[in-house]
Amino acid sequence: RKPMKSADIKKIRKKMEKTLDNARFEHTLGVAYTAACLAMRYDVDITKAQVAGLLHDCAKCLTNEKRISICKKHNIQMNEAELKNPQLLHAKVGSFLAMEEFDIHDQDIINAILNHTTGRPDMSPLEKIIYIADYIEPGRKQAPNLTTIRNMAFEDLNRALLMILEDTLSYLKSTGSVVDVMTQKTYDFYSQCS
Ligand code: FE
Ligand code: FE
Repeated sequence: RKPMKSADIKKIRKKMEKTLDNARFEHTLGVAYTAACLAMRYDVDITKAQVAGLLHDCAKCLTNEKRISICKKHNIQMNEAELKNPQLLHAKVGSFLAMEEFDIHDQDIINAILNHTTGRPDMSPLEKIIYIADYIEPGRKQAPNLTTIRNMAFEDLNRALLMILEDTLSYLKSTGSVVDVMTQKTYDFYSQCS
């Protein structure tokens, strides 16, 4: 495969600007730049971090009907929770669109998009970076412990990850929301290895 060129980033950014609403596009730029900074800090490919950051929410501004029809058409499995709340499909559908519409075939980038909402046990550095950047990008204001987590992100990736998972789980439990099995699995994995 040919290496990714920086020109691709401009193209992807333009396309995302057209696809996403304003707020989501601002968030997307925040994630891409934050991911690039973390990539510098942890010796990860900066271009890959930017591409994954730019594309992570590419299916967020589709209608639920559209997300479901893409899944049906391309035999992407949906579980009960996803059928009830098709917003949850944006990571799965996003990783599919990254391949089909943006011609991204780097497995690490695809995984980073696929796993950006729940995480998964034993993530790659790039996957961790996108998961964390999504949470700490400058446009985020409301999460508790944000300052501490932002500092930690540049000090210890795994500890920052664990802090985010902890806060996410306690938030979901406090609001009585259903906790995705994978979020819990991810938390269990990273709390054991720290
Ligand atoms: Fe997302
Ligand atoms: Fe996001």
